[in-house]
Amino acid sequence: MELHIRDVSKRYPNGVQALKDVTLTIPAGMYGLLGPNGAGKSTLMRILATLQEPDAGTIHLGGIDVVKQKDEVRKTLGYLPQEFGVYPKVSAEELLGHFALLKGIAERRARREVVEALLRQTNLWEVRRQKLGGYSGGMRQRFGVAVALLGNPKLLIVDEPTAGLDPAERVRFLNLLSELGENSAVILSTHIVEDVSELCTRMAIIDRGEILLEAEPLGAIDEMRGRIWRRVIEKGALAEVERTHAVISTKMLGGKTVVHVYGGTAPAPGWEPAEPDLEDVYFSTMAGHIGRRRAPTEAAA
Ligand code: ADP
Repeated sequence: MELHIRDVSKRYPNGVQALKDVTLTIPAGMYGLLGPNGAGKSTLMRILATLQEPDAGTIHLGGIDVVKQKDEVRKTLGYLPQEFGVYPKVSAEELLGHFALLKGIAERRARREVVEALLRQTNLWEVRRQKLGGYSGGMRQRFGVAVALLGNPKLLIVDEPTAGLDPAERVRFLNLLSELGENSAVILSTHIVEDVSELCTRMAIIDRGEILLEAEPLGAIDEMRGRIWRRVIEKGALAEVERTHAVISTKMLGGKTVVHVYGGTAPAPGWEPAEPDLEDVYFSTMAGHIGRRRAPTEAAA
């Protein structure tokens, strides 16, 4: 079931234009929505989850009009919000059972089976009787997924789920998501490039409410080949390099600075071609070297 988003715009009462003519087609599988804080990701996720109305535009999930048929969408949609609150004094098993009841699974045995299956799937079965207040960040996020999966959604929306997880929890969480992506559409909103590169078959980059690039991560990386140049410099030399080159990213490595610049040819002797990765795609897009914000002079060249 594909999700079609067409020309969706949203302006908040305070004047902030959070989304501008967003158009995206999201197929089954894992889809990454990548962008910095304030880009408009949560606004789009909330609109898709029918918690907010767009000012303009249309959204269709298969044959369902997401803006007009909210009840229909809610039956096929799971949503893990950025801030997922739990009742700290209740166990995972109890609370999930309660949500299952709210979802309409009235029969006791059916409910017990669903709760068990979801707690096993999210790897929380062993800790099902612990109070949620004692759960780690990763356990809480996995519990959020169990809740979002009640009712077998065809579309699962997860908003910035890995922020604040430690590396081991993050890997476990991403593995869980990738299993889910095999059966339904999963939209993962994130500002972390690795979340997308490790997991997603398709992606979009969003900034200041606008979609700058829609691509397959591997294809986009391939297209960067021969256009990223790398040099290791002393920290103090960075300002001069930034003044004279199209720097797209800098990283510290063993006390030195590794600089990546964008260009069709080597900027000067001393620069070596870099094997591109998704971070290069992301920063080149944000800087306007590729994608829809590309400067007119570069587009013409
Ligand atoms: P992201 O999830 O990418 O960080 P958001 O969708 O939360 O982005 O925010 C997009 C823009 O809209 C930001 O400038 C943010 O400050 C603004 N914004 C978000 N929610 C509201 C709101 N309820 N009222 C006013 N402005 C908002």
